[in-house]
Amino acid sequence: MRPTKIAVASGTGASVPVECCQICGHGPLERVLSLGYMPPVNQMVSLGQIPRQQSWFPTDLLHCRTCDLVQLGLAVDPAIIFPAEYPYTSGTTKLLRDNFADLHRESAALLKLGEHDLVVDIGSNDGTLLSNFKDGGHRVVGIEPTDVGDIAKERGIPTVKRYFGLQVAREVNRDYGPASVITAANCFAHIEDVHAIVDAIVEMLKQDGVFISESHYLIALLDALQYDTIYHEHLRYYSLASLKYLLEMHDLEIFHARPIPSHGGSIRVYAGRRGAHTVQASVQRMLAVEPRGEALAKRLLSFRRDVVLSKLRLIAMLCELKDKGARIAGISAPSRASTLINYVGLDEGIIDYVCEIPGSLKIGKLIPGTGIPVVDETRLFSDQPDCAVIFSWHIADELAPKLKAKGFRGKLITPLPVPRVM
Ligand SMILES: [Zn+2]
Repeated sequence: MRPTKIAVASGTGASVPVECCQICGHGPLERVLSLGYMPPVNQMVSLGQIPRQQSWFPTDLLHCRTCDLVQLGLAVDPAIIFPAEYPYTSGTTKLLRDNFADLHRESAALLKLGEHDLVVDIGSNDGTLLSNFKDGGHRVVGIEPTDVGDIAKERGIPTVKRYFGLQVAREVNRDYGPASVITAANCFAHIEDVHAIVDAIVEMLKQDGVFISESHYLIALLDALQYDTIYHEHLRYYSLASLKYLLEMHDLEIFHARPIPSHGGSIRVYAGRRGAHTVQASVQRMLAVEPRGEALAKRLLSFRRDVVLSKLRLIAMLCELKDKGARIAGISAPSRASTLINYVGLDEGIIDYVCEIPGSLKIGKLIPGTGIPVVDETRLFSDQPDCAVIFSWHIADELAPKLKAKGFRGKLITPLPVPRVM
């Protein structure tokens, strides 16, 4: 049964609590973890601006005992969490660029896509994913409500600059015809009324079309203690089981699934209309090892304990360094850095600044909720602080050798899953 009460904050200019499960409607939900109150991760104040009041939002993780969806306890108006000047561009991360190239290769081969096939990307960002399909000779359309959609347009990718929904789906259908492939990479967890989104996806989908979603994977989040990926953009934290539950409510069938490395552990799922595709062994293989019901509840309880301990351990480590007079910087300011910094309670007295690679739209702004400035990476090499915390720790192995090669001589610290000096 679909939820009778959907937490929709869109248009309220505020937030709405999630009182029953976003997938199955069950309630009340069990609270797994609370990270306290958090500022929106992408509302970054410019350096030098006079501090003004700002809304902070409770950040709780809830578990549904019926469909096993782990979800955020609060929906925040997308106008607040995705401001028009949204400073995130997917094209700036090599790992994501590589992943999107892989998604194109894998799906084009698996689905035997031809030049007449239409590929629609929901939340198409700067067009990085679609550029692969475009270069592969397929027809493409992106849907992206924020200003980064203009970057995609400049790259020659047709982009509808609107929030995705049934109306937009019908217009795309009318203007371009039904879609052979619909992709939703890392945005399928973002949109408030997930059933409306799946309805709109089904509306655009060709009879034998395929919906490919990529989302943070709950099990990877738990295994690697990635509590820092919990923020208000991410309303749902999917396991394969909860995704299956959702899609089956819309007569969609998952026929292939696999883990991918994006964002420290994601899941790529292929679904089509029921019976349209042969279900591969990968689906059962992944489902078999996922904790469900009581086992998942226990797993979430130990996760909570480990999150609390990791906070205390990081504080202890930084305290010891600071006590010895060390100067500490931060490396990279992804959205997840905001969660970690605010949950642990780091501020500009502890972290002098956070570095981003040249060209990042975050340079010259402050980490949300703090006075920590984001600066150009070159500062790190001229300044040589004693140590630097890598906030994009999930790609620390890729970053560390580069930082050393560019001349950084200080210690590098990864804050999670257990704080350590590399
Ligand atoms: Zn549920």
